[in-house]
Amino acid sequence: MQNALHRVPFRHCRLMLCAQILRRSYSSDIRNIGILAHIDAGKTTTTERMLYYAGKTRSLGEVHRGNTVTDYLTQERERGITICSSAVTFGWNGKRINLLDTPGHIDFTMEVEQSLHAVDGVIVVLDGTAGVEAQTVTVWTQADKHKLPRLVFVNKMDRPDADFDRCVQDLRNKLETTPVCLQYPTKSIEGQLSIYDVITLEHLSWQQGDLGRSYKQSKLETAELSVELQEKRNELIDQLSGHDDELAEVVISTESFDKVSNELIMQALRRATCQQKVVPVLLGSAYKNIGIQRLMDAVNSYLPAPAERNQIYECFGNEFAGKVFKIVHDKQRGALTLVRLLSGELKRGMRLICSRGQAETVTKIYEPLADEYREVSAVQTGDVAICAGLKTTVTGDLLSSSHASLKNAQKRLLKSRNSNTNTAEDEDLDDELFTIEPQIPDAVYFCSIEPPSISAQTAMEHALSQLRREDPSLRVSYDAVTGQTVLGGMGELHMDIIKSRMLSEYKIDVDLGPLQIAYKETIEAPALTTLSVEKEIAGSKQNASLTLELVNDQSELFSLAKTPENVQHLNALRPRLIQVLRKGALSALERGPRVGGQVVDTQILLHNATIARGTADSFVMATAAQCVQKLLSMTGTRLLEPIMALEIVAPNEHTSGILADLSRRRALIKDVMPKGDRNKLIVVNAPLAELSGYSSALRTISSGTANMTMQPCGFAEMNSSDELIAVRRAQGLE
Ligand code: GDP
Ligand code: MG
Repeated sequence: MQNALHRVPFRHCRLMLCAQILRRSYSSDIRNIGILAHIDAGKTTTTERMLYYAGKTRSLGEVHRGNTVTDYLTQERERGITICSSAVTFGWNGKRINLLDTPGHIDFTMEVEQSLHAVDGVIVVLDGTAGVEAQTVTVWTQADKHKLPRLVFVNKMDRPDADFDRCVQDLRNKLETTPVCLQYPTKSIEGQLSIYDVITLEHLSWQQGDLGRSYKQSKLETAELSVELQEKRNELIDQLSGHDDELAEVVISTESFDKVSNELIMQALRRATCQQKVVPVLLGSAYKNIGIQRLMDAVNSYLPAPAERNQIYECFGNEFAGKVFKIVHDKQRGALTLVRLLSGELKRGMRLICSRGQAETVTKIYEPLADEYREVSAVQTGDVAICAGLKTTVTGDLLSSSHASLKNAQKRLLKSRNSNTNTAEDEDLDDELFTIEPQIPDAVYFCSIEPPSISAQTAMEHALSQLRREDPSLRVSYDAVTGQTVLGGMGELHMDIIKSRMLSEYKIDVDLGPLQIAYKETIEAPALTTLSVEKEIAGSKQNASLTLELVNDQSELFSLAKTPENVQHLNALRPRLIQVLRKGALSALERGPRVGGQVVDTQILLHNATIARGTADSFVMATAAQCVQKLLSMTGTRLLEPIMALEIVAPNEHTSGILADLSRRRALIKDVMPKGDRNKLIVVNAPLAELSGYSSALRTISSGTANMTMQPCGFAEMNSSDELIAVRRAQGLE
């Protein structure tokens, strides 16, 4: 036996060990986590290191200037497997960590939301030289919404301009959280970073010869240092006992901080972190391979196991429930559905019901192992499964084993809700978890998409429908007037990525047409009219006479204009007729007269309706629509254009160039403030119409040094000359 083992090459031994860990996947041994960060903070580099130290990759790749998400995607794709895979599993010290990818760019908010449904805790990476940045606040708020326990990793601490204390202050002030520092940085005379561990009172230093794979734990060099760090440890215990009664009791009964064991601190830290009372802060340098193993240890020690969260799904009992958080396309296997198991077991061949009603069968189940998929026959609660065979599920679906099981679960949930004192916020989240349709943000950006040849049209349509399942925030429609397929989405980048995915995954080299802005329209002034239409259709007389009014109002879309004179008449109308009128009238608001934009902030008031007997519903509906169209062209509409909120961080010397360019783009500059010693933060609102190609323009102006985040922030009226330009553009005249 011994001999036999001898002959197994080392690499296989490790694989065997790995497999053992993976098989023994009790729920308490699983950690489902995500990594969130402002772009460039070091998310990719940190992930890469974790996979390397866990033995998942055999070499370390480097990101050089991963400035844009497009770079990020193509670069990572080219490097293959790991980072871009949407889920990867690795063993670390007896636990199984499922790392789910959370895309960092605002164009993918929808995906971020979905993956946050699937994780139990997150690591938030900060750039140690920049502290809490714009996108850090966004992702932090998202994690708040999902009530996710988190760890903070202050990265880039090797850099001379890194400032750990300032990062901790930022966490306290800008994120209003309670950071607890588990480590402090120190540097040798040569500038080499190493770490003091506050709990164990050790000095941790990393060797570079083996790419940081091993590190030295040693006692502190001087008595002074010991005293200093001991004080920090006391502070930590003091701070923690304010949040954890068990620890507080120990401190009180022993009357001393020194007698508190490391285990006790760690247990208290785990409880306080899981209850989101504190956020442990660790530090290091992903690039210089420092501190990553300790971060992984902290994931095991302080972030919750699946069973410690998601109590809401207990209403499923032992029955299967799972949430689709992503759909990916695999070259060999086609569309794969990534499911987070929330309750029960998922077995190969099982029939599943998605929350929208269809039944489907799981033909195969795989485990996410980064560079390979391993087929398994079943997956347990708390874990992540990659399913093949599901054809209609979309990202965000809640899957269950039968309609009855879902109904029962909902009943049980309601019951427990009535007996509990949940906050409205809790219930909102519950509702979102149980939603039938995931909430999809409005598209703000449209462009046409064309196949390289007519013969590729069908393939393109198929590819688009697959992509849409993965990413419901992608809209695909067909413009009957121009005969073009039109894509809608969250921004220019979103569309670029769709284009590059069409090429890399489906081998279709599509052309994207110029940007089309989703203008909205609103009426200039109230208007009232009566329209009577009479027609004979197939021998039966159709007659409808309607009086409608349009007013500026955001509260309701359609209501009855009850005045003393007509209240009796309106009260006598059949509810069904009102429904028909409503439907017809509202349909006319879908396309305004100016550029075909949706008409908003406009209410339709029904004053009078006289419909002859035997008149068909479709006729009534068409008359209502016609009447509203008449009103719209009578009063005329103004355009409302989508506005984007931008935050740009750029070195001081580039600020004036960026501002000058922005003012040419009709931007409203809201704030320019210092960010660190060398940078400025520029906050502006700008019309989307002026931002076509902005990310590459910004790169040019700033020689690639500026960072930007952009998100939709509503619609605004335009002045009449801009409006004229927009109308001409929309009509294809400019
Ligand atoms: P992401 O956008 O958050 O994924 O960040 P990346 O991992 O792509 O890193 C952005 C840039 O910062 C890259 O050029 C990295 O090489 C660099 N970087 C990442 N971590 C560190 C670090 O610890 N120290 C230093 N000096 N640079 C780092
Ligand atoms: Mg990156």
